[in-house]
Amino acid sequence: MCLCCKAGLKGTLNRYNTKDLSVHHIIPIEEDYTKRMDGDNLITVCCVHHEMCEAGIITRETQRELALKSMHDAGEDADAPLVY
Ligand SMILES: [Zn+2]
Repeated sequence: MCLCCKAGLKGTLNRYNTKDLSVHHIIPIEEDYTKRMDGDNLITVCCVHHEMCEAGIITRETQRELALKSMHDAGEDADAPLVY
């Protein structure tokens, strides 16, 4: 589900939004390619919040907090690389 909707940020229509999801890179791939798979650099967002993240309306700091909270809630280590 969208982590921004779950947190009730501006633009949220449905707190438990599972529609039109995508993965947002907090630090863009073109800015730092080495962080493209880092769990603390990735957040699941809906299309509305993806645009707000890209535009900086939702700050990188807030995005990172959401990523870390999500990882913590899932019992994941922020320093460990994602394994697929
Ligand atoms: Zn959302």
